[in-house]
Amino acid sequence: MMPDPAPEVARDVPAADAGRRHLIACICCDAVYQRTDLAEGERAQCLRCGGTLYRESTRAYHRLLPLVVTALILFLVSNVFPIVEMDLKGIHTQTTLWGAVQALYADRNMALVALLVFATTILFPLAEMLMMLYLLAPMARHRLPAGFEHVLRCIQRTRPWGMIEVYLLGVVVTLVKLSTVADIVPGAALWSFSALVVVMAVMLSFDPRDLWQYVKKEPLQ
Ligand SMILES: [Zn+2]
Repeated sequence: MMPDPAPEVARDVPAADAGRRHLIACICCDAVYQRTDLAEGERAQCLRCGGTLYRESTRAYHRLLPLVVTALILFLVSNVFPIVEMDLKGIHTQTTLWGAVQALYADRNMALVALLVFATTILFPLAEMLMMLYLLAPMARHRLPAGFEHVLRCIQRTRPWGMIEVYLLGVVVTLVKLSTVADIVPGAALWSFSALVVVMAVMLSFDPRDLWQYVKKEPLQ
């Protein structure tokens, strides 16, 4: 696997280094190709394994910042309002996402599960959104934020750990099962959480590796 091209491509670099930065490796079979500009809607495909190398994503890049802001708002709503309200034999109870994590943590045997739920539904998704915001907000003004390389690598490492869609699926299955023994009222957070899953899916369809290429095109000086 070739390393990501370095971001300082806008600066003066030796010719050999500049040529190397136009190379792209297939993430499936490690075949290396010369990167060329694509027309709108096109995608480059690996000749050896058929995997997608990269897409023309100028439009996606410009839509990314509003998507990240939308995702952050939905994330806030999802954590402030209750996910579910439940009536069982006259006892009314409700819980938020954070409340569910705390309830799990209070059970000694479920502490590890609580940590996993916290990491995969709160910590990593929030960290990725904040890091994307940190990169995209200055880039929208044609500026390169400090520590660009580290933050972008961190996004790529964090991404596989965000699993809010798995959590949502678990919540929905649980609610359907509980509905036979208790009155279940889906809370505001459940709807915002569902919307967040859709927004995140669109956001995650953008390959963060493409940002290296856009940095090269921006007039950063
Ligand atoms: Zn391949």
